[in-house]
Amino acid sequence: MTRPIGYPRTQVAIIATLLVLGAAPSLAQTLLIENVTLIDGTGNPPMHHVSVLVEDARITSVSPVPIPTVDAANRIDGTGKYLIPGLMDTHIHLAGGRQGMVTEGRRTLTMDVETGTKTLHGYLYSGVTTVYDSGNNAPFIFRMREDERTGKIISPRIFATGPVVAFPGGYASGEGSAVIGSWEDIGALDQLFALQPDMIKFVLDPQGSMMNPLRPTFSPELLKRLVQYCQAHGFRTTMHVSTEAAALQAIDAGVNALAHVMIGGRINPSFAQLMASKRLPMSTTMTVYNNIARIADEPEMFDGRLFVATLDDSERARQKTQERERYIRSGMSRMFSVMVPYMKENIGQLYAAGAILAAGTDRTFGPTLHQELATLVEAGVSPADAIRMATLNGAIYLGMEDDLGSITRGKLADMVLLNADPTADIANAQAIEAVFKGGVRVDLNALQLPVNRR
Ligand SMILES: [Zn+2]
Repeated sequence: MTRPIGYPRTQVAIIATLLVLGAAPSLAQTLLIENVTLIDGTGNPPMHHVSVLVEDARITSVSPVPIPTVDAANRIDGTGKYLIPGLMDTHIHLAGGRQGMVTEGRRTLTMDVETGTKTLHGYLYSGVTTVYDSGNNAPFIFRMREDERTGKIISPRIFATGPVVAFPGGYASGEGSAVIGSWEDIGALDQLFALQPDMIKFVLDPQGSMMNPLRPTFSPELLKRLVQYCQAHGFRTTMHVSTEAAALQAIDAGVNALAHVMIGGRINPSFAQLMASKRLPMSTTMTVYNNIARIADEPEMFDGRLFVATLDDSERARQKTQERERYIRSGMSRMFSVMVPYMKENIGQLYAAGAILAAGTDRTFGPTLHQELATLVEAGVSPADAIRMATLNGAIYLGMEDDLGSITRGKLADMVLLNADPTADIANAQAIEAVFKGGVRVDLNALQLPVNRR
């Protein structure tokens, strides 16, 4: 399958050409992290006293012996520290593109680039170097992606769906969606292809995430034809589902990934086996459900260190009051409180079966990825495997595992240096000393965040 983007290879090729032509190599393009404990993202046990060399954005050596040839200015002493790949959130909806709740059918499109940029800074501050936007206002999210790829903004790597593909009158078929009711509407997909989405997301949910009466959705035949049409044009596909029945239909249609864990009841062991044998990645998205359940009794979750550092006080206050009241009033908090234990059981079962789980939140703030990591561990995942889910498995979800997701020779040098061992306690993934994107250290003090204004 071809990937719709051929990303930084061109830049690397240009740099390589300049070197061949004799242009002076910039020192900033070389980085050496020495004597660090490496947790490489593949699930390998931690390796001690490792040196990681980065040249021209990519990892060129992972060595158990010191590498002496690098200028002192480009060396970072990793003694007593832990190096993990940059974290990935495989299901977000970046703030700034939409307002209102999908479940209430009242959603308006916005173009708030300033909010989007600040929110992206919050991801970087939280150690997240890649996000996958799983549905948003197309002009907004593709503008942000363009600004990221051309270096106009400081941002994690952005992969995006743009508009979701929904059935007329079905869940998430409101403003800004690509609505397809029959093969006659195939032009909507052609228009979407022109936007070069990194993945195309379908919505298959006759119950609208369970809070709504039954609504119309794709027939199995139409869905399969649409998925095949996307794949024939070189696009990966993912699908919003919330039950095993819908997930089976998605798998039968040939989808490349699932956008959510099943929350509407216990899954069958045979389903977990199927997910594992097909090696079909699933975004875990427990935080969206868990937070809506928790917010009623624990609004103070927004007072955690990373939230205080990255969210404006007014936004935290809004989450603790208006948003909280909305979730309580709609009945969602109560309903998800009942379902969250089954959701965690399902994750535990999929994990035990060997399914590819990719950490995702279905939320819009960087710190929530750390909530997802904590919930994964509560569901029975080892901290080391939780790291893999938020790194290599995320790259597999996106079809980007050749370039991203682990600290392996040849891959892009997206990395996070930690002051404490995340395999001992997953909360230590928040002990962030430095964040690197493409081998360049992000200046965390220069990000537009509340922590830098205090
Ligand atoms: Zn979502």
